[in-house]
Amino acid sequence: MHHPGNDTPDRFPAREHFAAGAQYIAGRLTEGTSGRTHTVVDPATGAGVLTYRPAGPDDVDAAVAAARAAFPGWAGATPGERSEALHRFAAVLAGRAEEFARAESLQCGKPLKLTREFDVPGTVDNTAFFAGAARHLQGQSAGEYSGDHTSYVRREPIGVVGSIAPWNYPLQMAAWKILPAIAAGNTVVLKPAEITPLTSLLFAQAATEAGIPDGVVNIVTGTGQEAGEHLVGHPDVAMTSFTGSTAVGRRVAGIATATVKRLHLELGGKAPFVVFDDADLDAAVHGAVAGALINTGQDCTAATRAYVQRPRYEAFVERTAALMETVRLGDPFAPGTDLGPLVSHAQRDRVAAVVDRARSYARVVTGGQAPQGELSDGAYYRPTLITGAAQDSEAVQSEIFGPVLVVLPFDSDDEGIRLANDTPYGLAASAWTRDVYRAGRATRELKAGCVWINDHIPIVSEMPHGGYRASGFGKDMSAYSFEEYTQLKHVMFDNTAAVAKDWHRTVFGDR
Ligand code: NAD
Repeated sequence: MHHPGNDTPDRFPAREHFAAGAQYIAGRLTEGTSGRTHTVVDPATGAGVLTYRPAGPDDVDAAVAAARAAFPGWAGATPGERSEALHRFAAVLAGRAEEFARAESLQCGKPLKLTREFDVPGTVDNTAFFAGAARHLQGQSAGEYSGDHTSYVRREPIGVVGSIAPWNYPLQMAAWKILPAIAAGNTVVLKPAEITPLTSLLFAQAATEAGIPDGVVNIVTGTGQEAGEHLVGHPDVAMTSFTGSTAVGRRVAGIATATVKRLHLELGGKAPFVVFDDADLDAAVHGAVAGALINTGQDCTAATRAYVQRPRYEAFVERTAALMETVRLGDPFAPGTDLGPLVSHAQRDRVAAVVDRARSYARVVTGGQAPQGELSDGAYYRPTLITGAAQDSEAVQSEIFGPVLVVLPFDSDDEGIRLANDTPYGLAASAWTRDVYRAGRATRELKAGCVWINDHIPIVSEMPHGGYRASGFGKDMSAYSFEEYTQLKHVMFDNTAAVAKDWHRTVFGDR
């Protein structure tokens, strides 16, 4: 049940905070001009928490103009100056951590322990990392590579970056998009998902509070079709950085390519979780439950397909289902809650539909339904374990993005690795074994941008995140993200002062 209009002032005062609107352009909150309204809903209760006017094309144009105007000054600041601003930004974020955690929990239904211990500190750490990294842009050393010239590289910002973010980790995704871009001297217009704009807006406001100039970080809150496509196709936007589903990524790529933009795509995932017969089974069971249920399974790297070597298969299924049943669903703001609702009732219904279809070809061992009683107004769904699904079935091949783990057996190591690689995706994978050779093989042969051994989910600011294959291309976080948000220029100085250069003879005259 949706109840737009109900107030939830004790959670985060969204109406009060965003009374001026949900667009942040040139350092100011404003209303959008799309002529429509949208209500952000608390998925734990169905209550409306903020009604705002989404961005239309004019708002996108205004934000791009603000970012364009801010670009020369920001790009011209020294790395040290940008670094200092980012250090202040990290301090502002740390000081407002509880407010950010509450806003994120409210709009997404994430348990407070998750936002307090993961989303918000991860974002503070990312900001601090990019404050340091801003001073470490790498390149080949200058040198006389031709003999007659001195060559060096300049790593230059690209211009206005148009970024589009999904709803599953709104704050972290905004941070991953904005931080490397601005650390390298670009300016940004970010479009969050229209259902979860609160923390991207808070993030942009915190940037201003930290002294980052107006126009460096702008937020346009609107739909993908209206605000998103206008941003991607905008002639003054030099780069599109998109995180979201593979289907939308394809469409975004088409529009960006037609306008010849730099493109960065972080897309869907369907991460395998491969348990060899020598694995520590308890560790694998714990890892599977945590890896499948983090963020109510709405994580692009979540463990979604567990392949378990035949001798351990039965025990793994039984123990994983039993552990899943101990996970406490509840109000995200209540201290005893492990798992909140999905982000929306629509997302819960999509997940439920995949599981319901799976009943015709597989077995739902636990879960497979929404809880009744006091949680029935929220977008909750019970942790679900499915067995007996064929490798080519929907539950195994497509992204469910909910608290659902599919478990399948395998016999030989070859088969385990082959099945793990057998989806279009390649974002993340894990292997569970105590055998160093099996682990080594898994790290070489699993086709994914991240492979964990005996764990699943952890990320660090210093290391790259990004996909293979249908999971996209380009890296978030780490110094590697500067490859995305900078362009390299080769500068070559003639050192001879000769009129007739040696190579000219290939065009005219003899030696
Ligand atoms: P989505 O693709 O539906 O939407 C993502 C964003 O794109 C939203 O802001 C949306 O408004 C916008 N959008 C939609 N249509 C658009 C269009 N035609 N033009 C421009 N923009 C448009 O994804 P979602 O449901 O918000 O998020 C879940 C998806 O994101 C999952 O597939 C998940 O795997 C993926 N994801 C990937 C990563 C990663 O790092 N690879 C991280 C988080 C989420």
